[in-house]
Amino acid sequence: MDEIAPAAPGPGVPPPAMLTPPAPHRGRRGWLAWLVYVTCFGGAIYFAIHGARALSGEGSDDEVKAQVYASIGKLDETGFARMGKPEPGDWLDRFQETPQSMGRYRLSTPVRPTKDRRTVVLQPLGPMNEEQTKVVEAMRDYAEIFFQLPARVADSLPLEIGGKSEALTRKIPLGNRHGTYDTQYDAEKILDEILAKKLPDDAVVYLGVTMQDLWADNLNFVFGLGSFGRRVGVYSLARYYPEFWGKVRKDGDEIMGLRRSCKVLNHEAGHMFGLSHCVFYHCSMNGSNSLAETDRAPIHFCPLCHRKLQWNIGFDANKRYEALRDFYAKHEMAEEAEWMKGRIERWKEIATKDAIENGTAIVPEE
Ligand SMILES: [Zn+2]
Ligand SMILES: [Zn+2]
Repeated sequence: MDEIAPAAPGPGVPPPAMLTPPAPHRGRRGWLAWLVYVTCFGGAIYFAIHGARALSGEGSDDEVKAQVYASIGKLDETGFARMGKPEPGDWLDRFQETPQSMGRYRLSTPVRPTKDRRTVVLQPLGPMNEEQTKVVEAMRDYAEIFFQLPARVADSLPLEIGGKSEALTRKIPLGNRHGTYDTQYDAEKILDEILAKKLPDDAVVYLGVTMQDLWADNLNFVFGLGSFGRRVGVYSLARYYPEFWGKVRKDGDEIMGLRRSCKVLNHEAGHMFGLSHCVFYHCSMNGSNSLAETDRAPIHFCPLCHRKLQWNIGFDANKRYEALRDFYAKHEMAEEAEWMKGRIERWKEIATKDAIENGTAIVPEE
């Protein structure tokens, strides 16, 4: 997989200096606060949590990590690996992240569903064949289950501005060109010029999905780009399939493609619900610097990210876990389905313990 995305900075890969916040005067996004954009996977990250660090009064990053680990019981932690020292070239080797505790998450006043605005809307962008259309349908099912909110697929929109695609495109930089793909699309313009202008009234988040390759800012490519405040994001599925790399399909490639698509969906939508990159466990909310690192991360949310989402949306965790197990089994994601069976068993005990501690369960008096 090394040829897919260099694990260390190389030609066309942005230097870590990208962590510097963009200057406030930056052209067309000057009207946005500098920290509303977040790019993922092979890119840079600008987070809205820096203010929460000061507000939460929780101490140093190491202290916050220790507090989070101490707050999560052994049983809840079972099945998740704590984040150790990153490998050279991994996301956390290149980018420093501020740990987002539950307290910091709440203080960040994340986007939350309301009575009238609670649908996850997937927006196909540009042409898709039958197989790709089915993948988007499966992503819709997954979004409905993962976030326990209504989800729908909107009618496809062309990738063009004023009837012209040229306003959005450039040639993929040489050295990053594979297979038959030679053109890529400007993810920032897609957010600004297409999605932000068409945000449906019922959408809590509005997510563009395309089979075209994307770039943003000075990055050679991005898998996805999202905006915290405006509730819009866009992902490309192009690099998840062997055709992009000029390779022939083999057994399991379809399942891998769907697995990656589901990961990018829960990760990017997770950002839009205010979750920052997870630095506590190996978790779908980990930052990722390459497709190889993405593939190493689990599809699941760790105990902390799960609790953030549960606090935000207020779902029945058991019902959600059971539906996720069934989704993974239906789509031949056997390892994920098996993992979820174990989680469901553990969750019964965890939920009972939580209920006792919260005083919401009936227990005999001593
Ligand atoms: Zn991310
Ligand atoms: Zn996590």
